[in-house]
Amino acid sequence: MLMNLQIENVLFDEKGLVPAIVQDDKTGKVLMLAYMNKESLLKTIETKETWFYSRSRQELWNKGATSGNRQIVKRLSLDCDNDSVLVQVTPMGPACHTGVETCFYNTKFEEETPNRAIIQELIVEIKNRRENPIEGSYTSYLFKEGIDKVLKKIGEESSEVIIGAKNEDKSELTSELADLTYHSLVLMEIAGVSIEDVKKELLKRSGKKDE
Ligand code: AMP
Ligand code: ZN
Ligand code: ZN
Ligand code: ZN
Repeated sequence: MLMNLQIENVLFDEKGLVPAIVQDDKTGKVLMLAYMNKESLLKTIETKETWFYSRSRQELWNKGATSGNRQIVKRLSLDCDNDSVLVQVTPMGPACHTGVETCFYNTKFEEETPNRAIIQELIVEIKNRRENPIEGSYTSYLFKEGIDKVLKKIGEESSEVIIGAKNEDKSELTSELADLTYHSLVLMEIAGVSIEDVKKELLKRSGKKDE
């Protein structure tokens, strides 16, 4: 059920405010929570940048106006009962005024259940190893060797995936799938194909019947 967000539907509280959750559109990380009044919500829609109402200063603020860490709005959603908004953004820098990515860094139970966008982190690290090679880094070595070396590795790892699956060895298969995933990401970096390109392709296919 996808419906258009109508401003008239937004239920502002008795102070004229609605809580706005800001989320990184790419990583899914929740970045911050702030409040919007009608004016700041309209400005957010108009400028495609986040605007909030500061309860302490009693004024509108445009996130990043002083720090430069603006948030480009990709999507705006109203929740089921119209009393909160979700703002999905591309952040130009840390969301928190303390300089960290997300305001939610005081964390409990993280040790037991780590929650990291490991693929996204790996993509960033791979790019970094290419741009700033490190002595002894396997990733930097692959980039130095070039695409043929990477393609050879992908061939090997694919075979190992098949062997792992045939052996019905889940841990072996898991390990080989991780190898294949990593080398595929290195290939994507070399070939200039992004994970977004692949996601777009999958999205195009979803909903279509298998052929
Ligand atoms: P900025 O919007 O990043 O240019 O920062 C300007 C001011 O907005 C800061 O000095 C804070 O008062 C406030 N501010 C910025 N980011 C946050 C945040 N994530 N949570 C609360 N206040 C913030
Ligand atoms: Zn609600
Ligand atoms: Zn903060
Ligand atoms: Zn392997």
